[in-house]
Amino acid sequence: MPGASGKLVIISGPSGAGKSSVVRALLKQCDLPLRLSISATTRPPRAHEVEGRDYYFLSQEEFAARRARGEFLECKEVFGRGDWYGTLKSDVAAGFAQGFWMVLEIDVAGAIAVLAEHPAITIFIDPGSREELERRLRNRATEDEASIRRRLEVADRELQQIHLYQYRVVNETIPDTVKTICDILKRHGD
Ligand code: 5GP
Repeated sequence: MPGASGKLVIISGPSGAGKSSVVRALLKQCDLPLRLSISATTRPPRAHEVEGRDYYFLSQEEFAARRARGEFLECKEVFGRGDWYGTLKSDVAAGFAQGFWMVLEIDVAGAIAVLAEHPAITIFIDPGSREELERRLRNRATEDEASIRRRLEVADRELQQIHLYQYRVVNETIPDTVKTICDILKRHGD
């Protein structure tokens, strides 16, 4: 995305850390011009997920074609199951053009790839403890046991990379976490 000048906010954290709920609340409650970049994925939609709101759900073929055309700012195969996730350059560029700060909810590998091309405010949402993370993943009950174990392994790896992020926020309650992140972002406002 050469020439892009808008503010980019990267929010990462293990799945089960409460990241999606925090990001949703942040976008509603923080009085900055924040917009969520909608990623593309090849994983199937979960119940209640909506095309174009949660993700652009693409077939493997469509994803591969877009990748070959260089349409992704970054893209990664996550969880070693063949599911691809990617940030669309067009989505981010359109938000910047309209004056928004673009929020990317992506994994650590994706964050590293983006940072190589564009400066960003980086925030890691930490579940607090490994036990808490496992409890939340199990409570969510959207994944089978193998998937939970894979997500915990990825989480363990990601938690070791927290130092790459400018801010680490322990998600004890969503309202507190949202306020903390909004305050951090406001300090980056011009
Ligand atoms: P989920 O399947 O639970 O929606 O997301 C799984 C993981 O994929 C999350 O950790 C999320 O941060 C990551 N993810 C979602 N979209 C993207 C993306 O566009 N790029 C990368 N690298 N990771 C993503």
